[in-house]
Formats: sequence, structure tokens, C-alpha cells
Amino acid sequence: MAKKEDKFKKVIAHAKEYGYIFGSSEIYDGLSAIYDYGHNGAELKKNIREYWWKSMVQMHQNIVGLDASIFMHPTTWKASGHVDAFNDPLIDNKDSKKRYRADVLIEDHAEKILQKAQKEITKAAKRFGESFDEEQFKTTNPRVVKYLTSHREILSRMGKSLENEDLADVKALIEELEISCPESGSKNWTEVKQFNLMFGTKLGASANTATQLYLRPETAQGIFVNFLNVQKTGRMRIPFGIAQTGKAFRNEIVARQFIFRMREFEQMEMQFFVRPGEEMKYYEYWKNERLKWHQSLGLGLENYRFHDHDKLAHYANAAADIEFNFPFGFKELEGIHSRTDFDLKAHEEYSGKKLQYFDPELKESYTPYVVETSIGLDRMFLAVFSKSLVDETLEDGSERTVLKLPAVLAPVKAAILPLVKKDGLPELATQIVDDLKWSFNTVYDEKDAVGRRYRRQDANGTPFCITVDHQSLEDQTVTLRDRDTMQQVRMPISEIKKAIEEKIDFKTWLSKN
Ligand code: ATP
Repeated sequence: MAKKEDKFKKVIAHAKEYGYIFGSSEIYDGLSAIYDYGHNGAELKKNIREYWWKSMVQMHQNIVGLDASIFMHPTTWKASGHVDAFNDPLIDNKDSKKRYRADVLIEDHAEKILQKAQKEITKAAKRFGESFDEEQFKTTNPRVVKYLTSHREILSRMGKSLENEDLADVKALIEELEISCPESGSKNWTEVKQFNLMFGTKLGASANTATQLYLRPETAQGIFVNFLNVQKTGRMRIPFGIAQTGKAFRNEIVARQFIFRMREFEQMEMQFFVRPGEEMKYYEYWKNERLKWHQSLGLGLENYRFHDHDKLAHYANAAADIEFNFPFGFKELEGIHSRTDFDLKAHEEYSGKKLQYFDPELKESYTPYVVETSIGLDRMFLAVFSKSLVDETLEDGSERTVLKLPAVLAPVKAAILPLVKKDGLPELATQIVDDLKWSFNTVYDEKDAVGRRYRRQDANGTPFCITVDHQSLEDQTVTLRDRDTMQQVRMPISEIKKAIEEKIDFKTWLSKN
């Protein structure tokens, strides 16, 4: 376990150090479960989105895209079931009449215990000075061990109870820990109830006429309400799909696994509309297609598995997750759901508008059934990033940290490195940058010895380094170094672009398996 936690910590630290992911508004101590993507992160995220979009839309004549708004008419969420059934736990204090999130009360209590441990550690560090070994102190000092264990156990029990929807145990935990109302000091609590995960906001300037709106908790509903618009204007014939990527928002309770569970995140969803009765065929088809998509990236077949849902959501008649082996174990990466005609029927009912399709072959109208593929872009980012980060011991015994991102997704495809900062080498290297930048992202780097520059690019995830040396001036050749094999081949400058393009080509990657 400790090893897994270390690996996860390393992933988070590396993501920050190399400009992939920062905590949101860090200068104000951040905002829980909200993250920003840095210069490399923004590129990697864009490339994953594009890899998905192309494979879904460009590669399928019967799938088209959509870009619906985050705000939707509030009745949408009544129809979809989110207003009534998308919930988390809430508790009231009977004396102060103040309302709290049960999980936040417990988290705050656990945090206080953690701070007690931290205080002891800081005190000891002062006392022991240079010889202080923090790790050893944390595992041997009885008081600190007690605080840290208690902190861990509280959070773990709360997580389990919430997962099992055991709200009575959440209340029992609050009582056992003797948590009191921060306002009044009273321990007179109500039962724990569910509260809705959707973020609400208001549309309109005046308080009494403002409309209650929600930030969408999933992108799918934008597709359902536009089903007929797209079908008619795109002259789509069933079976057909509508694909969409975009932000979704959930006021998540247990949100402490970095970008695995965020409060603001991005989804990539595709709703596939089929004839009633044919949904299981397409459900199987999309399960298979989506797994192939994942496997094309070469992160290792053993890192994926299907998990069929035992308990189905109210709208589904079959559902499976593609789980990925994250640093903290196998967890859901993508869902494939057979959603029946639940959503379209519900929107018909609530809007009073017909959402039916006339099937020219069957010569009849019906409400289509839907098979959905739904993946979190940020979760996909974490899957790719965490699996790509490896520590290697080389033949000469030296170590290197390398981010083996699939070349098709890497933020920067090539670094151009003049061997020395003089003799006309920077000028030639700059010319190469100016030529290649029309085709893909490049960086120019002349600082430090070339070996250090290679390591820097390895850790950055750059798949190719082009080194310009004195021979380059004589015969217009350079060396091309492969990040993963570290092999270098000399080739004419005129062939470099083609050589790299072949390695980062969408078709080569997607058609791999
Ligand atoms: P989980 O069980 O992990 O909460 P879910 O079953 O609620 O996920 P879905 O509603 O099926 O998730 O959403 C589809 C996909 O959206 C998930 O497979 C996941 O990749 C992504 N996703 C859902 N919630 C989050 C979140 N809070 N942060 C990041 N990604 C998320």
C-alpha cells in the first residue's frame, strides 16, 4: 500500500513540476478538488480530447458532434431525475438550526487531529534540528502515530459509510467523535439526510424573478434535448450517434484523489440512438469498440478490465465500466450504459413535445433506445499520465525518470538541441524549429550539457530530440533520439519531419490493434 501511495504522490508532484497540473488558485491555498492545467497539461488534455473526437466523429459516418451549453432549462434536470435522485448527506443542528454537510463536519474534525500531529512534528523538528528524520518520527512517536491513525480511520470509515449509503453510521460517527456545532457548541443533531450534488445558481438580476438554474452534472442531457434538431438538420438515420465533450459539475463528497474525482471536470460522451430491441447488440459493440480505443494507446492490456454493474441506475437495462489500473488500484475510467428510452421519454413527458423518429424502412415512428459511452477526460488524463511515468535504471547503473506518453498524445513532439551554444549551431537549430513548427509542437533548448537536456525532455514526455552538431553544418544531417529506446539515428534534416510525423500519426495509432 505504501508503495502505491508513494507512486501516487510522485505522479502528483511530477504533474506539478513539469507544468501539467496545478491546484486551482494556489496562491489562496487552493480550492478543494478543483485543478488547473499548465502549459503541458493543456496540450495533453487537448490531444486526448482530439484522439477521442476523431475516433468517434471523423471515423464514423453516422456520428456527428454537438456543443451544447452548460446551462439548460431547469426542467431538464427534473425530467432526467437529477433533481430528485442525485444526492449527498446533510445534517442539521437542532439548537442552532444550522445546516451542515455531514462529511464536511467529519473531515474538519479529522483535519484538527491531523494538525495536532503536525504541531508535534514541527516542535520535534525544532528540537532535533538537522538530525531530525520526519518519516521515522511519524512512525515511531506514540502520540503522532495515534493522531495519524485516528485521522486515517475516521476518513476511511466515513468513506465506506457514504459509499454504502449507510447514513445512520455517518450520524453514529459524528456522535462517537463528539462533534459539536461550530456555531453553538451543541451536539444535538438531526438524522443525516441526502442533499443534491448539483451546483445551483440564479439567472436574472432581481431576487424575486430570478430562475433557479443548475450547472450541468453530465453532458448527456444536452444531447437528448437536441436529439431531433440534430437528426433533422443532419438528416441522420438510425442507428446514429451524437458526440459531445464539455464541462460537468458535481458537488462531490469524497473528492480527494487528485483529478480522479473533481468538482469541475470534463466529460466526453456519445449517445447512440438505435431501434428498440437492438440496444443489446450495440451495447456489446460499443463495449468492444471503446476497449479497443483504450488499448490502441499501448498502456498495457493488463491495465484494463470490465466491471458489469450489479445495481443498475434507474434509466439503464445494462451497464458496464471499463476500469483502469490507477496508482490506487482498479477504478472506473469509462461507463458504457444501455439507457433504454428513459431520457427521451422523460423529456417528451415534461416538455409536451414529441421526440420520435420516423423509421423509413419500418415505416413507423418510435422513441429510439440509447447506448451511451461516457468517459471523464480528466480521468483519462490521469490514466495516461500515471501509467507513462516510470523510473528506469539504465545499463550503466544511472537512473532516469521518463514520461513515456504515447507520442500521438505528447504535448511537445520534438526538442531541438544545438550541441553547443556557438559556431552557428543555434542558428541551424532555429531554422529547423521554424520549419517543423508548422507541423507540430517543438521546443528549442540550448541550456546545460546535452545529456541533462535529454533527461529534461525525457521527464517532460517529449518523444523525440533532434541534436544539431558540427557535422550538421557540413552535411546537413542531425541525430534523432527516441525517448523510450534512447537510440539515436543520423539522418538528413530534410527527412526529419516525415520520420516524426509517421510516429505521431493518428491512423498509425488508432489502427494499431
Ligand atoms: P463514480 O462512480 O466514479 O462517481 P459515476 O458512475 O458517477 O462515477 P458517470 O456518471 O457514469 O460516473 O460519469 C461518466 C464518467 O465521467 C465516469 O466514468 C468518469 O470518468 C467521469 N466522472 C464522473 N464523475 C467525475 C468526477 N467527479 N471527476 C472526474 N471525472 C468524473
